[in-house]
Amino acid sequence: MPNYVIDAPETVALPVDGTDALFPVRRVYCIGRNYAAHAIEMGHDPDREPPFFFQKNPDNLDPSGTFPYPPHSSDVHHEAEMYVALKSGGTNIPLENALECVYGYGLSFDMTRRDLQGQMKKMGRPWEIGKAFERSAPCGPVHPVSAVGHLSEGQLTMTVNGETRQEGDLNQMIWKVPEMISYLSEYFELAPGDIIQSGTPSGVGPVASGDVMVMTVDGLGSLTVTVA
Ligand code: MN
Repeated sequence: MPNYVIDAPETVALPVDGTDALFPVRRVYCIGRNYAAHAIEMGHDPDREPPFFFQKNPDNLDPSGTFPYPPHSSDVHHEAEMYVALKSGGTNIPLENALECVYGYGLSFDMTRRDLQGQMKKMGRPWEIGKAFERSAPCGPVHPVSAVGHLSEGQLTMTVNGETRQEGDLNQMIWKVPEMISYLSEYFELAPGDIIQSGTPSGVGPVASGDVMVMTVDGLGSLTVTVA
């Protein structure tokens, strides 16, 4: 055992669907504006500009099914996103090899303190305060590629209290999964345990305490999260 001067932080790990095994998490990357209709609703040009990324913290991932409404915001939005879990990585990964890095896929939310994110955008400051807060990424288990294959299409639906808020299809992603892996690997060294949240379709909006959010993606089942 290393002689740590304080207790070592616990490794964040996500359940693997249908097993008692765990997927350990290293980093969390999030792609922005990856669906044209969402780019438009946020006031941006949907043209295929290079993708951009921000990060959440590994321990922002939360498979508990509960999302505590965070402090210092009165406009917390849901963004329903498929995530990609990597089993290998590297730098400058060629497009044609990118899918070989994928261990599996899952359902997640990129919960956002939209009011704080908006202030930071206006001031030209980083987004962490709006994006990378405690438990800001409620998520479901990892579904291994060995069980579900690779997902390049499939309906994504998100409801709040039974009312449809977000609808899209994975085939509407501006930057597809192999492209986001290959592009990210030009700027960062990807590694086993990395998670990529793949962006959200249009229809983002606020949640309130007591709301029940349900996200479904064809082939990945559903994820239910209650706002506490
Ligand atoms: Mn997002």
